[in-house]
Amino acid sequence: MRRIKTRIAILYGVGLLAVLLPIGAAVLLAEYRSFEQQKDRANRLASEILHRTHRVTEQMAAVFQELNATQGANPCSDANLDLMRKLVVKSNLLIDVGYVENNQMRCSSFGRNEYRVGPPSYRGDGGYDVRAQLEHPLLPGSRLVMSTDPKTGFSTLIHQGAVLEVAPADSRLTYGLVGVRSKSAIVSHGAFDPLWLANIGGTYETTFFDGNRIISWKRSDRYDLAVYVAIPRSEIDHDSGRAMLVLVPVGIGAGLVLALVVAQLVRLQRTLSTALRDALKNDEFFLAYQPIVDLASGRWVGAEALLRWRNVNGVMVSPDVFIPEAERSHLIERVTERVVQLLVQDAADLLRERPDFHIAINLSAQDFGNADLPERLRGACAHMRVHPRSLHIEATERVFLDVGQTRKTVAALRAQGHVVSIDDFGTGYSSLSYLTEFELDCLKIDKCFVSTIGTQAVTRNVIGHIIEMAKSLQLRMIAEGVETQEQATYLREHGVEFAQGWLYAKAMDIRQLVQELNTAET
Ligand code: C2E
Ligand code: CA
Ligand code: CA
Repeated sequence: MRRIKTRIAILYGVGLLAVLLPIGAAVLLAEYRSFEQQKDRANRLASEILHRTHRVTEQMAAVFQELNATQGANPCSDANLDLMRKLVVKSNLLIDVGYVENNQMRCSSFGRNEYRVGPPSYRGDGGYDVRAQLEHPLLPGSRLVMSTDPKTGFSTLIHQGAVLEVAPADSRLTYGLVGVRSKSAIVSHGAFDPLWLANIGGTYETTFFDGNRIISWKRSDRYDLAVYVAIPRSEIDHDSGRAMLVLVPVGIGAGLVLALVVAQLVRLQRTLSTALRDALKNDEFFLAYQPIVDLASGRWVGAEALLRWRNVNGVMVSPDVFIPEAERSHLIERVTERVVQLLVQDAADLLRERPDFHIAINLSAQDFGNADLPERLRGACAHMRVHPRSLHIEATERVFLDVGQTRKTVAALRAQGHVVSIDDFGTGYSSLSYLTEFELDCLKIDKCFVSTIGTQAVTRNVIGHIIEMAKSLQLRMIAEGVETQEQATYLREHGVEFAQGWLYAKAMDIRQLVQELNTAET
């Protein structure tokens, strides 16, 4: 019982794992996927920003080239203002082009309205003075970046968004453009942390996770510029949460399917033993009797009781299936008890009327471990009012592996008058020592040896040895599974007294057995 419980406990454990593992895998997969997706996103954004930066820088360079060519003339001449306007119209990125002197915008494509631009934020590595976050007086709220050539005073103004408008305004991402050598942000969405730069070293591209955010760097191969994009952890978690919404149900589904399979296994494990229990309660068993024949005279001297199970669905279940299961689930003693009950019901009259006729029942190893067995069988015989010698007992070799209680039980059964046979001899743990250690009456030669008679099978000589051995131990012999006349003749000629097999009769119900016995007499 404990073994079955452990097995079921293990199956339940496996079932639980079957549910949890796919869910765990789904969660990990969701996190991994969203991490990879966000890394990808950071990379793409950085590439986009760098691409725009290059375009802006190229346009600015072209503008400076044209404006600087006018050097020497009045920077705010009508012709120059005209040129400035043309340059702004031509460019899709420049907001304004103008001339700065003493931190004052003197003139621009908007005309000669002067306004203060303040001192530069820093001197860029391209040699330009940069004023970041500048508000144009004609464009309130604007955030412009102004680059000024310090030698000529000519300046370009671009919208910060021309480079940075790559993500939704409300996004929690931080990104921007940084001067590599100055390590300061030129334009930035969200606060830039110079520590992020520490990792980039000499590489032109890198993406890493600093524990809190994914940071992607791309450095320009043309200018002293680098782009960074930082995606915070909350964004990754948010994303993996969304992925989990899809993947976890899939994981749960897979888990449930696996659990169902395991549950089905548990059920199968249990159904046979449960069905056996129910069969015992619901009277689904009956006995069939196969005659044992005296080889010399052809007379039926006894019969072997073979258990039959027709289950609730009317299906016959083979004893080769349910007997081993009954032994495994420790139900065999109850099965044997039922065999004895059925025998008492069926055969009391027959055995009482024919004291020279016997019926053999099959017992399992566990039956012999029960010290009450001889008493139970004595009681059954008393109830039938027959001598115990009318009840024979068959036990397979396996029974004789345990010499302790089994030896005592066998001795007690024989002392009581039962005839004890060793069944299926030679098929299992065959060893002569079993035969010498136990006092036995009879040996049943297994049908697998009988079937070799008259054939070329390599084992065809074994039966001869078994017969000789039985003779030397003074055991009587019953040959099982006799199907041909040739086998019967061989057995008789070699001194085997009894036989059982389809040559004579298949197992039959008790009424038929009685009928056959009666007809044989008349
Ligand atoms: P077993 O004790 O060796 O029983 C003989 C088996 O050989 C029976 O199968 C029988 O139907 C079959 N048989 C008889 N004559 C022939 C023949 O000429 N040719 C062939 N090929 N087979 C023949 P069955 O009834 O299916 O029983 C199978 C096994 O189940 C039995 O083998 C026995 O070990 C076990 N068994 C049957 N009834 C009981 C029982 O009440 N208690 C226990 N513990 N085991 C039983
Ligand atoms: Ca048997
Ligand atoms: Ca047998």
